[in-house]
Amino acid sequence: MTKLRIAVAGGGVGGMTAAIALQSLGHDVEIFEQAQAFGRVGADVNLTPNAVHALDGLGAGVGAELRRTAARPEYRISRMWDDGRETSRLPMSTAAEEKCGAPQLTIHRADMLAALEQALAPGTIRFATAVTGFTEDGGKVRLAFKDGSTSEPADVLIGADGIHSVLRTQMFGADAPRFTGLVSWRAVVPRDAVAGLDNLDSFTKWWGPEAERQIVTFPLSRGEEIFIFATTGETEWEQEGWTLPGDPAELRAAYTDFHPEARALLDAVGEVTRSALHVREPMPRWSAGRVTILGDAAHPMVPFMAQGACMAIEDAVLLARALDDRPDDVPVALRLYEDSRRDRTAAVQRGSLANDWLKQGGNADWVYGYNAWATSLGAPAMT
Ligand SMILES: Cc1cc2nc3c(=O)[nH]c(=O)nc-3n(C[C@H](O)[C@H](O)[C@H](O)COP(=O)(O)OP(=O)(O)OC[C@H]3O[C@@H](n4cnc5c(N)ncnc54)[C@H](O)[C@@H]3O)c2cc1C
Repeated sequence: MTKLRIAVAGGGVGGMTAAIALQSLGHDVEIFEQAQAFGRVGADVNLTPNAVHALDGLGAGVGAELRRTAARPEYRISRMWDDGRETSRLPMSTAAEEKCGAPQLTIHRADMLAALEQALAPGTIRFATAVTGFTEDGGKVRLAFKDGSTSEPADVLIGADGIHSVLRTQMFGADAPRFTGLVSWRAVVPRDAVAGLDNLDSFTKWWGPEAERQIVTFPLSRGEEIFIFATTGETEWEQEGWTLPGDPAELRAAYTDFHPEARALLDAVGEVTRSALHVREPMPRWSAGRVTILGDAAHPMVPFMAQGACMAIEDAVLLARALDDRPDDVPVALRLYEDSRRDRTAAVQRGSLANDWLKQGGNADWVYGYNAWATSLGAPAMT
C-alpha cells in the first residue's frame, strides 16, 4: 500500500474526523490548529443519523464516547409560534436507528471534539500553529505558519480551517462570505431551569411568523442541560467570533408575541452568545493539485437543517475513501472526492437557506439516510 503523508490545517470536527479515518487506513497525518488548546467554546452540535453513522464507522471508540456524553432526542418536532400547534413530528431515536443505522445525537461541541481527539494517534495535533498558506514544489506540498516556519513536505494538504479558510483563499482567491441579515443567539441552561415544559427530550423548532425569528431547543449532556437557539434580524454585522456576549433581555424583547411555552424557554436564559450567520454560494471546485478543502471551508451554511458539522463529517469520510482508492494519483483522488460531495452539499446549502426543512413534515431520508461508507465514489450522490 502507498502510505501518504498528509497535513491538515484546522482541528475542528472535519479535520479530526478526516485524520482519524486516514490514520485508520495507515496514512501518516498531522493536524495544525491555531487554538492554544480545545476550550469549552461554542455550545451545541447536532449530529443527525447520517453523521452518527459516519462517525461510528471510524471505530476507535468514537461512537461509544459520543454516546457517553450526548443526548439522544426522541423526536424532531415543528411547532408554530402563535398557538403552539405541532405541524410535524419525526421519530429520531430507535426508529432512526432501525431505518438509518444510527440515532440522532445532540452534544456539546467540546464533548464531541474530546471524543474525536481521544481517537487520534498520540501527538497528531500541533496546537498554537496558525496556518498562513501553502507552497507546492516538486510533487510535495507544505503548509506555511504564522511564525515563518513550514510543515514537513507532504503528499496531500487538507484545508479544514473553517469558514475563513486560508487554503481556500490561496487556491480560489479572496471573497467574503455574505452576511444573511440573521444573528444567532445560543444559550445552554440547566434542565431544572425549564422543568415542566413539554418535549425537553426532543429537538423542537418553533417557527416564527417571518424567517428572521425562530427558536430551536434540544437536550445536551445526556439531557441534564437544554440548548436554546434563536435568531434575530440585523441590517449590518461587523464582529467575528462564536463567543460575543448578548443581552438576554434584548432577545426576550424580540419574542414577546411567541407562545408562552416558547417564551418560557427564553425566560430561562442567563448567559447568551451571539454570532452572525454567513453563507457562500456553492463552489464549482474544491481542489487544486494536491490541496483540497472540506467542511465549512468548502460549503458554509446557515444552521436551519442542522447539517454544518454533519456535512464536514461526511466530507472527511469520502475524502479518506477517495485517497484510499487512488493513493498513487492524489490529484485524481481529490477530484473523485469533490465529485462525490459537491451536489449533495450544495443541495443542503440551498435547503438550509430556504429555511423550510421539515416544517410540515416530508421525507428526510435523502439527508438522514446517507451512508458515507457505502455511497459510490465519484457519483453525484444524493443518498
Ligand atoms: C470556536 C468555534 C465554536 C463553534 N461553536 C459552534 C456552536 O456553538 N454551534 C454550532 O452549530 N457550530 C459551532 N461552530 C461551527 C461548527 O463547529 C462548524 O460549522 C462545523 O462543525 C464544521 O466544521 P469544520 O471542521 O469544517 O470547521 P470548524 O469547526 O470551524 O473548524 C475549523 C478549525 O480550524 C481552525 N483554524 C481556522 N483557521 C485556522 C488557521 N489559519 N490555522 C490553523 N487552524 C485554523 C479553527 O480554530 C477550528 O478549530 C463553532 C466553530 C468554532 C471554530
